[in-house]
Amino acid sequence: MGYIDEVLERVKTKNAAEPEFLQAVEEVLETIRPAIEANEEKYKKEALLERITEPERVVRFRVPWVDDKGQVQVNVGYRVQFNSAIGPYKGGLRFHPSVNLGIIKFLGFEQIFKNSLTGLPIGGGKGGSDFDPKGKSDREVMAFCQSFMTELCRHIGPDTDVPAGDIGVGGREIGYMFGQYKRIRNAYEGVLTGKGLTFGGSLARTEATGYGLLYITEELMKCHGESMEGKTVVVSGAGNVAIYAIQKAHQMGAKVVTCSDSTGWIYDSEGIDVELLREVKEVKRARLTEYAAARKSAEYHEGRGVWQIKCDIALPCATQNELHLEDAKQLVANGCKAVCEGANMPTTLDATKYLQENGVYFICGKASNAGGVATSALEMSQNSERLSWTFEEVDSKLKDIMVNIYHNIDDAAKRYGKEGDYVTGSNIAGFEKVAEAMTAQGIV
Ligand code: NDP
Repeated sequence: MGYIDEVLERVKTKNAAEPEFLQAVEEVLETIRPAIEANEEKYKKEALLERITEPERVVRFRVPWVDDKGQVQVNVGYRVQFNSAIGPYKGGLRFHPSVNLGIIKFLGFEQIFKNSLTGLPIGGGKGGSDFDPKGKSDREVMAFCQSFMTELCRHIGPDTDVPAGDIGVGGREIGYMFGQYKRIRNAYEGVLTGKGLTFGGSLARTEATGYGLLYITEELMKCHGESMEGKTVVVSGAGNVAIYAIQKAHQMGAKVVTCSDSTGWIYDSEGIDVELLREVKEVKRARLTEYAAARKSAEYHEGRGVWQIKCDIALPCATQNELHLEDAKQLVANGCKAVCEGANMPTTLDATKYLQENGVYFICGKASNAGGVATSALEMSQNSERLSWTFEEVDSKLKDIMVNIYHNIDDAAKRYGKEGDYVTGSNIAGFEKVAEAMTAQGIV
């Protein structure tokens, strides 16, 4: 058995109850095979793959809080500090009832390579809780966030680990957590990113993941002789990533005709009205039925279904494993040219394979959604120098980063004879830098 297969077996045995983590490890190790085989003896002796698949540290903790009826509730909190070879741990916090250790480990593992691809000095981590902010009052969300941070603050710091938002964690939650950190540690420092603009946040951070997704998609299309102008785009999700992806796609002259949430989806033949969507989702925190009620051209459907709509480009921006093999078949049959992931691992492995084998350009999330964490790293830089950059300055750096990522992953794929395979290109380009840093730092 070769080295990669030995490690895969070992990871499967040790983490049998964590399917998402196994899926992520398998995808990365399978695609970096050529880079590993070129240095197999050295990596095996250093147990590099065993080390890179084992988090440096996992923290799991109790989060007790009191609801509006005076009842004590208990949730579980996690922080997985996966790899600090190239910088302090960096990665979001997810608050969603589906959160468990396996999901946080999958996200933390992906984050190592994503952060490496940005070209910025940030290691990989992820955290969160099974707390569901939906339907909770502001006071309840604050009580939870304060309790969560009371424990988390022992493990993080501006040069150690700098969390950000993710599903269920937006500006409101980051604000409450920052306040509690400052109070306990008596330190005003850049320990979280995605902060409000009045207390150290960066302009363009809110928009960054969605905008970055469109910058890399535009570069991909450009390098294949096409533009975004006049393209029909389908988007899933209606959260932070989806909203700003839709906004930027429209600015580029494309038309986005769908969005979705966890209960249903919208088809809007006139193109999604972003301001209305923001009002429904960001301000009212309501369901998409409210969007449909306010707009004549919109149809609301229960369940999932955005991938059946004919499009040139598909952008999954909701959650993991939301684009399945049958969806991939439908996209190909409808003539879709490109799928770029806004969410983390939204496309299943068999769907990815089908898209690639049928000539669809496919960019995986660790490259295409890296704009969020890259801009978080720019927020860290601004906090360190105690300055704020303009929107245009941050946005132009973001665009440069995304264009660079495209060319790095394209070059890495070509170097290993896999031209056009951007998954292989992303994993190899991300891996090489981390592996070199780990080797240079010795056995730690
Ligand atoms: P939000 O919480 O803002 O939005 C998530 C959206 O996806 C909502 O519309 C939500 O629906 C929907 N959704 C969540 N879970 C499910 C589910 N199980 N089934 C169907 N729909 C679901 O999160 P973000 O936009 O921040 O994150 C979306 C994805 O992008 C995640 O995979 C995240 O990890 C990834 N990502 C986010 C970054 C960021 O900067 N925010 C950076 C890089 C990646 P509902 O409204 O009903 O909850």
